[in-house]
Amino acid sequence: MSAWEQNVRKVVPYVPGEQPGQEGIIKLNTNENPYPPAPGVARALREMESKQLRLYPDPAASVLVEALAGRYGLRPEQVFVGVGSDDVLAMAFLTFFNSGKPILFPDITYSFYDVWAKLFGIPYACQMLDENFCIRREDYVRENGGIVLANPNAPTGVAESIEGIRWILDKNPGIIVIIDEAYIDFGGDSAVSLIPEYENLLVVQTFSKSRSMAGMRIGCALGQPKLIKYLNDVKYSFNSYTMDLPALKLGVESVKDEEYFQETLRRIVATRERVKTELGKLGFVFPDSRSNFVFVSHPRIQARELFEALKERRIYVRYFPKPRIDNYLRITIGTDEEMDVLLDFLKKYVRQKER
Ligand code: PMP
Repeated sequence: MSAWEQNVRKVVPYVPGEQPGQEGIIKLNTNENPYPPAPGVARALREMESKQLRLYPDPAASVLVEALAGRYGLRPEQVFVGVGSDDVLAMAFLTFFNSGKPILFPDITYSFYDVWAKLFGIPYACQMLDENFCIRREDYVRENGGIVLANPNAPTGVAESIEGIRWILDKNPGIIVIIDEAYIDFGGDSAVSLIPEYENLLVVQTFSKSRSMAGMRIGCALGQPKLIKYLNDVKYSFNSYTMDLPALKLGVESVKDEEYFQETLRRIVATRERVKTELGKLGFVFPDSRSNFVFVSHPRIQARELFEALKERRIYVRYFPKPRIDNYLRITIGTDEEMDVLLDFLKKYVRQKER
């Protein structure tokens, strides 16, 4: 290895789900929303002119920050925005986890947390979920440098109650607790309601799932003004213009249309509940999902084998070859039509296996 290479900051990157790009694929592997963004988003996109791109965007992203503050009943000083929640979470790790003590998150959770921890040199300790993939609250009562919980959790879909979150916050005064609510709109109880009470709580959300805008890359963090100020200090020390002009304009349009937002959520939740019933009839087992995906296992079918069979049928789902979850598949909730194709395939597959 040459001298310069010895000094490279080497990282093992996070691997996102495949984006196959061919036509005709039923794509249930990255928890995208099957419905389009709010109609106002399409309208604003059509009305945008390239000459608007001549100028830098507003570094404070004020229009989007204000729209989000209005939506959540917060003040603009309580809202931080970034390029998807990945960007927001990375900034938060960099900003708040600087004590040298290990940060805590579950052993089974969003697999980007340990990647950021390693990238930024933050020590961490994974806490085992119980056999039902639930958090054991007591595990979060020990010396630590911060806590990160996805709620509902990924890839399990299991939601922690607001009382559980409150309990962990109460046991950790003076420690930053990040609640990653990427999937909260599909059925969990948001910790946003706790923000006035806890100066150490940061809630992170995204436009990628419930708002159908994964391609636009918008995420936000909500918390007390002091936390948001520290986040902004780091952001302005890194890149002043994280939010581009289209993201600001289109993000605002999405936030404005609450009715469309609620209707889209209702449809996805209805499909999810129907899919759960059908999967149960086929013998699949799964924790109760409050998200836009289900995390399933079958007592007589190997997950990896089913993953390959589905892929051959051009149905993409997610498989994680990791301890404790290597016999599970994470299946995003698509349209009713897409889920019917999936269920038809699974019916035949299970029947053939059980012959
Ligand atoms: N948190 C969790 C738990 C996720 O599953 C994802 C999606 N991969 C993200 C954050 C990041 O999503 P985005 O950057 O698109 O907001």
